[in-house]
Amino acid sequence: MKLTTTSGNPIADNQNALTAGERGGVMLQDYQLIEKLAHQNRERIPERTVHAKGSAAYGVLEITHDISRYTKAKVLQKGEKTRLILRFSTVAGEAGAADAERDVRGFAIKFYTREGNWDLVGNNTPVFFLKDPYKFPDFIHTQKRNPRSHLRSNEAAWDFWSLSPETLHQVTILMSDRGIPASYRQMNGYGSHTYSLINEAGERFWVKFHFKTRQGIKTLTNDEAATIIAADRESHQRDLYENIEAGNFPSWDMKIQIMTDEQAKKLPYSPFDLTKVWSHADFPLIDVGVLTLNENPKNYFNEVEQAAFSPSNIVPGIGFSPDRMLQARIFSYPDAQRYRIGTHYAQLSVNRPISEVGTYTLGGAMNDGSYDVSAQAYYEPNSFGGAKEAPEFSEPALELSGEMKRYNHRELDDDYYSQPRALFGIMNEAQKQQLFSNIAQSMAGVSEFIIERALGHFEKISPEYAAGVRAALGR
Ligand code: NDP
Repeated sequence: MKLTTTSGNPIADNQNALTAGERGGVMLQDYQLIEKLAHQNRERIPERTVHAKGSAAYGVLEITHDISRYTKAKVLQKGEKTRLILRFSTVAGEAGAADAERDVRGFAIKFYTREGNWDLVGNNTPVFFLKDPYKFPDFIHTQKRNPRSHLRSNEAAWDFWSLSPETLHQVTILMSDRGIPASYRQMNGYGSHTYSLINEAGERFWVKFHFKTRQGIKTLTNDEAATIIAADRESHQRDLYENIEAGNFPSWDMKIQIMTDEQAKKLPYSPFDLTKVWSHADFPLIDVGVLTLNENPKNYFNEVEQAAFSPSNIVPGIGFSPDRMLQARIFSYPDAQRYRIGTHYAQLSVNRPISEVGTYTLGGAMNDGSYDVSAQAYYEPNSFGGAKEAPEFSEPALELSGEMKRYNHRELDDDYYSQPRALFGIMNEAQKQQLFSNIAQSMAGVSEFIIERALGHFEKISPEYAAGVRAALGR
């Protein structure tokens, strides 16, 4: 193949700039030099504000169990096999951060279904720090660098957490042994939000999605992680890439929890509260299928950096819920992709659905023309055979009521402690000691009054929890 410019013009010399004389300066007409330099300036796109450091692989979801009584989604019918890409990530660090840091891990899946893309954009934890999206930018500021020192701040993290006790559940998971997975293969994934499933009869069920690792849970202590990071900042990327290259394909059992609307109305807490799980005893896990990763991307930038996940991508038979955090993400994720990648990011090969696209949203940067409209049918409705709405995909109505106001969720539910207590209760002695010491280490440099406020919350989870952290702090 000939070396060419991006417009296909042959390049005769790729070693020597065009100059005026043997010792003279370069010529402005050396377009080939200019194109190389200009592209170098544009080789990066803005990194994701959160989940900047990631690793991804392609794979397949195979449905092994019949859940058709809950959903008509083709992707979830027994026997269906659907190609997917799964991107793992850390949350707070920048694109160059070390993989083996204590952090929540992203677990974002794009299923290329016959009915369009379905994105399940979750984490390796079943809950999150917040239940109200109003606080999301504030929270993320505490995880990022201090604007003056440009350093991460334990003070900011614990100040915010101790002032926002709904974070306690996720903080307890983060500070537990599971806060540093040994690899992306050895952790669970959770859809985290409540979604809905809709069956052929138009009945709606509330659902949570779980992916249980078949590799077994394996975690790192702070000391083990520090040793790994000293030698290798890419330990999770390396592990995932090398295992898949070697044909050692990781897999996860996909399961769901189902709640009827009647059960939801009787639940003592909101089933749409992202800081809470649904107890397995009350809402047992139902087997669905197996997710396997079996192919590495060929080009990291094209397929991982430009991969754009959004919970707004759903297919018939799967729907949203009143979960406020989910509703905010339905807006903010595609908005982030438009900013980060460009208007028509969905046309890029990694984001492109395998199903037919019939859209009128064609103007704007980066449109490659593959979804073109005809000369007549460029608005809707039209009389010229353009894409039409499909009323058969309407969702059943969802009854909502109430007065519009800014409800104070702290007045509605101040039980921040029962579920962290249940988690603490299933930890063995070694796990509890790790929890205490991880919290103590993460409080290095934090002001006394903030530590005392946090201890007050731990006390309400369990006096043993607070005493353990106090002892680990050496007081
Ligand atoms: P169960 O005993 O039925 O389940 C406990 C769950 O906790 C298991 O899924 C287990 O995952 C997981 N787990 C164990 N250690 C940790 C940890 N350090 N961090 C995060 N998850 C952990 O109990 P319940 O359903 O009654 O829930 C009790 C508590 O377990 C909850 O308050 C919640 O904190 C936690 N949990 C619950 C989940 C749920 O959906 N109900 C999901 C995950 C956690 P595994 O099977 O992989 O070992």
